[in-house]
Amino acid sequence: MGGFVSLVGAGPGNPELLTILAKRRLSEADVVVYDRLVNPALMAPLAAEKIDVGKLPQHHKVSQYQINDLLVEQARKGKRVVRLKSGDPYVFGRGGEEGQYLQQQRVAFEVVPGITSAIAGLGAAGIPITHRDFASSFHVITGHHKADGTQLDWENIAHQEGTLVFLMGMGELGHIAEQLIKNGRASSTPVAVIQWATHWNQRSVKADLGTIETVVETHHIGSPALIVVGNVVSLMDELNPELPLQGLHLLIPFKDPSKLFSKLQDQGAAVNFFKRRTQVPLTFDLPDMLKGGTLVISDQTAFDFFEHRLLDTGYDQRVLSKWRVLALNQAIAGHLKRHGLLVDGYFESDNSLFSEPEIVIGEETALGRFKEVKSQKIATYRAIPVNQTIEVGCFHGIIFPSSASVDDLVSGCRDSQKRQLASMPCFAMGKQVVARCQASGIRNVISVNPSIDAVMPAIQSYFKCRSVI
Ligand code: SAH
Repeated sequence: MGGFVSLVGAGPGNPELLTILAKRRLSEADVVVYDRLVNPALMAPLAAEKIDVGKLPQHHKVSQYQINDLLVEQARKGKRVVRLKSGDPYVFGRGGEEGQYLQQQRVAFEVVPGITSAIAGLGAAGIPITHRDFASSFHVITGHHKADGTQLDWENIAHQEGTLVFLMGMGELGHIAEQLIKNGRASSTPVAVIQWATHWNQRSVKADLGTIETVVETHHIGSPALIVVGNVVSLMDELNPELPLQGLHLLIPFKDPSKLFSKLQDQGAAVNFFKRRTQVPLTFDLPDMLKGGTLVISDQTAFDFFEHRLLDTGYDQRVLSKWRVLALNQAIAGHLKRHGLLVDGYFESDNSLFSEPEIVIGEETALGRFKEVKSQKIATYRAIPVNQTIEVGCFHGIIFPSSASVDDLVSGCRDSQKRQLASMPCFAMGKQVVARCQASGIRNVISVNPSIDAVMPAIQSYFKCRSVI
């Protein structure tokens, strides 16, 4: 049985700059073979096996031959393979060669176009690649030619009227500027260099052909970057997008779709996910539902499994009409409301308003925190820790919407990650979440009201004061 390879463009970096087809191919894939420049946030929702061919395992870069063979080998196992490449798969980065090899080997394949950094990367820094007043064409050029001994036709390039965009050119920046001047471009021609366009660490500088090399050195700008030459660069200050959370790299629990993710991205932050623990449903006996009593819901997921059990047994929510339903916090109450259930109140272990509840439902380990409550505990699921592969230190802050999310992250961290976590600014949505963070060894906890709209200004004011953004 033959598999299938999709050469998919991942876009310039921002995980939302992916085509709809690319998103579907990723969700259908058995295996994803990806490059160094692909944003890891794109990988978070995927069930597929992920193979990183951009890293340097034991300092040996995976060669193009090995990548080609890997694609063929995986396809021949009958797998749906996504070869995920930054930007557009056929704009440099050897996508064409991969296609040719697959064709020779009679492996069925397709190309899923992506948004190239050569165009979108400029826009992200406020540079339109064409403009009626400044450029009526553009030229995308590799700056890497010297490596294979060939030379660019500098005379031709220097005489183009349009915008010049060099990719893979940072090692040759001085040479590029020198050749353009030598072949007739004024040394005052505007030049911009944009590094990590649309990623959280995007940085850009503006100078001219005569000074760009020094300016780039002063600002320590390196690869990956786009070198843009032409008068369109003069629009950069005017068109540079500015959003309140721009420049921030934030970590949140994985959820798809995630309102928190969308809101943060809309404010200009770059967001990545940590993994949730695996949820394994447990078999449990339902209490005598017809009797009624007080039911405490200590966790949203626990309720979902409880509800499934009710339905499987032939009950629906009407059976809860005899029960006083208490939530542990507002977030859980909100979740229940979305399921058509209004809570009668909130549970606090010292709450004298309510008699001892009959039943508390929750996650198996988390129920241990209700030892002082003498009622029956029903564990509806078990959460199993998952190794966290993210590098905690490259984030400015973490947002925890629930206590369970704190456990999700902390339980999957190695000791070195936990040490970084301890001093990381953590935004805890609600007082129980604050307590959970503190109990987990996190020292820099910022308490925010448990609503997404309250989180945005809290993050902004926290980081503004520290002039990170
Ligand atoms: N296929 C890709 C280009 C791959 S070649 C595309 O269409 O965008 C790799 C080069 O692309 C890098 O050396 C750099 O010059 C450029 N590049 C890719 N992504 C970039 C980004 N987010 N910011 C700046 N340059 C980028």
